[in-house]
Amino acid sequence: MEKYTAVVLAAGSGSRMHSKTKKQYLMLNGKPVLYYSLAAFEEHPMIQEIILVCGAEDISWCRREIAERYDFKKIKQIVQGGKERYHSVYEGLKAAKDCQWVFIHDGARPMVDREILDRIINALPKYRACVVGMPVKDTIKRSDPQGFVAETLPREELWMIQTPQAFFYEEILDAYQKLMQKEYTEVKITDDAMVAEYIHGTKVKLIEGSYKNIKITTPEDLDLAAVYLR
Ligand code: C5P
Repeated sequence: MEKYTAVVLAAGSGSRMHSKTKKQYLMLNGKPVLYYSLAAFEEHPMIQEIILVCGAEDISWCRREIAERYDFKKIKQIVQGGKERYHSVYEGLKAAKDCQWVFIHDGARPMVDREILDRIINALPKYRACVVGMPVKDTIKRSDPQGFVAETLPREELWMIQTPQAFFYEEILDAYQKLMQKEYTEVKITDDAMVAEYIHGTKVKLIEGSYKNIKITTPEDLDLAAVYLR
């Protein structure tokens, strides 16, 4: 049977939340945000293993207060992340080792659900590289350095990208290994599909996520997620 592993990221500092507690550990309807992000993978029958990536200082807290407290049986390893998100992903990918398919998910996205995971799992054999997202609703403009509109982008072509993103394991690992060997990249890496696109020229398939699949970044996101969960 093919093995599906999830790498769940929780090694960010979450400075935009202006809170002492990192955003992925803030309480949401009585449980940490990270709980919900992990639960979707724990409960999905096709996912065999979860690798949790967190800050070195949080490893024992995550083991005790997340993995043990909520009895996440699929969390097989808790590994230390890195400075940027892509460093953390690389650590998670190295730990994932013996799988065919890997999901990469932001621990700060608690609204991921069974339907989203099913859509990705159905698409993976055909496309091998899938990201979830949703078409943008607003008009998006690019600004110039002086704060004036430089360009209005064609809305019908634009998607906002979410996680999970999922890949054939060996291909995404190879892309990340090559990325890590570069001393300098001219592009700022903000998601995993970018690594596949940039290093291998992979054609990445867009899969419908959900407008509710928000990332907890600022305090109002937490209020919104609490409403969605209710
Ligand atoms: O900072 P950003 O909102 O892009 O973070 C998205 C996810 O990546 C969060 O779940 C965060 O904890 C994680 N992250 C990480 N390691 C970093 C930076 C972010 O695991 N160095």
